[in-house]
Amino acid sequence: MASEKEAALAASPSDSPTIFDKIINKEIPSTVVYEDDKVLAFRDISPQAPTHILIIPKVRDGLTGLSKAEERHTEILGRLLYTAKLVAKQEGLDDGYRIVINDGPSGCQSVYHIHVHLLGGRQMNWPPG
Ligand code: AMP
Repeated sequence: MASEKEAALAASPSDSPTIFDKIINKEIPSTVVYEDDKVLAFRDISPQAPTHILIIPKVRDGLTGLSKAEERHTEILGRLLYTAKLVAKQEGLDDGYRIVINDGPSGCQSVYHIHVHLLGGRQMNWPPG
Protein backbone atom coordinates (compact mmCIF):
# COMPACT_ATOMS: atom_id res chain seq x y z
CA MET A 1 0.00 0.00 0.00
CA ALA A 2 1.25 3.49 -0.84
CA SER A 3 2.44 5.58 2.06
CA GLU A 4 0.25 8.46 3.14
CA LYS A 5 2.76 10.86 1.56
CA GLU A 6 2.66 8.96 -1.74
CA ALA A 7 -1.14 8.90 -1.63
CA ALA A 8 -1.18 12.64 -0.96
CA LEU A 9 1.19 13.41 -3.84
CA ALA A 10 -0.82 11.17 -6.17
CA ALA A 11 -4.14 12.76 -5.24
CA SER A 12 -5.32 15.61 -7.40
CA PRO A 13 -7.04 18.48 -5.65
CA SER A 14 -10.49 18.49 -7.24
CA ASP A 15 -14.22 18.71 -6.69
CA SER A 16 -14.75 15.09 -7.76
CA PRO A 17 -16.60 12.79 -5.38
CA THR A 18 -14.31 11.08 -2.90
CA ILE A 19 -14.32 7.87 -0.92
CA PHE A 20 -15.86 9.82 1.95
CA ASP A 21 -19.09 10.20 -0.08
CA LYS A 22 -19.34 6.41 -0.12
CA ILE A 23 -18.75 6.32 3.62
CA ILE A 24 -21.45 8.97 4.19
CA ASN A 25 -23.87 7.05 1.96
CA LYS A 26 -22.93 3.76 3.70
CA GLU A 27 -21.90 2.29 0.33
CA ILE A 28 -18.67 1.14 1.97
CA PRO A 29 -18.29 0.17 5.60
CA SER A 30 -16.71 2.31 8.25
CA THR A 31 -16.65 2.30 12.01
CA VAL A 32 -18.80 5.27 12.90
CA VAL A 33 -18.25 6.66 16.40
CA TYR A 34 -20.50 9.74 16.16
CA GLU A 35 -23.13 10.99 13.74
CA ASP A 36 -25.65 13.79 13.62
CA ASP A 37 -27.44 15.67 10.85
CA LYS A 38 -24.34 17.68 9.89
CA VAL A 39 -21.24 15.62 10.67
CA LEU A 40 -19.91 12.08 10.68
CA ALA A 41 -16.99 10.74 12.71
CA PHE A 42 -15.43 7.36 11.92
CA ARG A 43 -12.20 5.49 12.61
CA ASP A 44 -9.33 6.03 10.16
CA ILE A 45 -8.60 2.89 8.15
CA SER A 46 -4.85 3.40 8.68
CA PRO A 47 -4.56 4.58 12.28
CA GLN A 48 -1.51 6.60 13.24
CA ALA A 49 -2.30 6.44 16.96
CA PRO A 50 -4.35 4.13 19.23
CA THR A 51 -7.25 6.50 18.62
CA HIS A 52 -7.44 7.97 15.13
CA ILE A 53 -10.79 9.32 14.05
CA LEU A 54 -11.83 11.46 11.10
CA ILE A 55 -14.57 14.06 11.47
CA ILE A 56 -16.19 15.23 8.24
CA PRO A 57 -19.14 17.33 7.11
CA LYS A 58 -21.89 15.25 5.53
CA VAL A 59 -22.27 17.90 2.83
CA ARG A 60 -18.98 19.09 1.37
CA ASP A 61 -20.38 22.31 -0.16
CA GLY A 62 -17.13 23.15 -1.96
CA LEU A 63 -15.06 22.58 1.15
CA THR A 64 -12.54 20.24 -0.42
CA GLY A 65 -9.94 21.52 2.02
CA LEU A 66 -9.43 24.29 4.55
CA SER A 67 -7.82 26.53 1.94
CA LYS A 68 -11.18 26.61 0.10
CA ALA A 69 -13.06 27.88 3.15
CA GLU A 70 -15.36 30.84 2.68
CA GLU A 71 -17.42 32.89 5.10
CA ARG A 72 -20.40 30.56 4.67
CA HIS A 73 -18.35 27.66 6.01
CA THR A 74 -17.60 29.14 9.42
CA GLU A 75 -20.49 27.33 11.13
CA ILE A 76 -19.56 23.88 9.83
CA LEU A 77 -15.87 24.50 10.58
CA GLY A 78 -16.77 25.25 14.19
CA ARG A 79 -19.01 22.22 14.27
CA LEU A 80 -16.19 19.95 13.10
CA LEU A 81 -13.91 21.16 15.89
CA TYR A 82 -16.63 20.96 18.52
CA THR A 83 -17.42 17.42 17.40
CA ALA A 84 -13.74 16.55 17.75
CA LYS A 85 -13.93 17.70 21.36
CA LEU A 86 -17.08 15.61 21.97
CA VAL A 87 -15.56 12.51 20.41
CA ALA A 88 -12.30 12.97 22.31
CA LYS A 89 -14.31 12.95 25.53
CA GLN A 90 -16.29 9.93 24.36
CA GLU A 91 -13.01 8.12 23.59
CA GLY A 92 -11.64 8.91 27.04
CA LEU A 93 -8.77 11.08 25.79
CA ASP A 94 -8.68 12.97 29.06
CA ASP A 95 -4.90 13.58 29.02
CA GLY A 96 -5.01 15.37 25.69
CA TYR A 97 -5.01 14.71 21.99
CA ARG A 98 -4.03 16.21 18.67
CA ILE A 99 -6.21 17.77 15.98
CA VAL A 100 -4.83 17.87 12.43
CA ILE A 101 -6.18 19.28 9.19
CA ASN A 102 -3.95 18.48 6.23
CA ASP A 103 -4.30 20.84 3.29
CA GLY A 104 -3.06 20.34 -0.26
CA PRO A 105 -0.15 18.29 -1.56
CA SER A 106 2.45 19.91 0.69
CA GLY A 107 0.16 19.42 3.67
CA CYS A 108 -0.12 15.70 2.80
CA GLN A 109 -3.85 15.82 2.03
CA SER A 110 -5.01 12.73 0.14
CA VAL A 111 -8.82 13.01 0.31
CA TYR A 112 -10.37 16.22 -0.99
CA HIS A 113 -13.35 16.39 1.35
CA ILE A 114 -12.36 18.43 4.37
CA HIS A 115 -11.72 16.34 7.46
CA VAL A 116 -10.36 16.81 10.93
CA HIS A 117 -8.03 14.11 12.25
CA LEU A 118 -8.41 13.36 15.96
CA LEU A 119 -5.36 11.49 17.24
CA GLY A 120 -4.79 10.29 20.77
CA GLY A 121 -3.90 7.49 23.12
CA ARG A 122 -0.14 8.01 22.91
CA GLN A 123 2.38 10.78 23.54
CA MET A 124 2.60 13.07 20.52
CA ASN A 125 5.84 14.60 19.30
CA TRP A 126 6.70 18.04 18.03
CA PRO A 127 7.52 19.07 15.37
CA PRO A 128 5.28 16.79 13.29
CA GLY A 129 6.84 15.10 10.27
P1 AMP B 1 -5.51 13.14 4.56
O1 AMP B 1 -4.21 12.53 4.20
O2 AMP B 1 -5.42 14.22 5.58
O3 AMP B 1 -6.29 13.55 3.34
O4 AMP B 1 -6.33 12.00 5.30
C1 AMP B 1 -7.12 11.06 4.64
C2 AMP B 1 -7.31 9.93 5.59
O5 AMP B 1 -8.37 9.11 5.14
C3 AMP B 1 -6.09 9.03 5.77
O6 AMP B 1 -5.64 9.06 7.11
C4 AMP B 1 -6.62 7.65 5.35
O7 AMP B 1 -6.07 6.61 6.12
C5 AMP B 1 -8.10 7.81 5.56
N1 AMP B 1 -8.93 6.92 4.79
C6 AMP B 1 -8.86 6.69 3.45
N2 AMP B 1 -9.81 5.80 3.09
C7 AMP B 1 -10.49 5.49 4.22
C8 AMP B 1 -11.59 4.61 4.50
N3 AMP B 1 -12.17 3.89 3.54
N4 AMP B 1 -12.03 4.53 5.78
C9 AMP B 1 -11.43 5.24 6.76
N5 AMP B 1 -10.40 6.09 6.56
C10 AMP B 1 -9.93 6.19 5.30
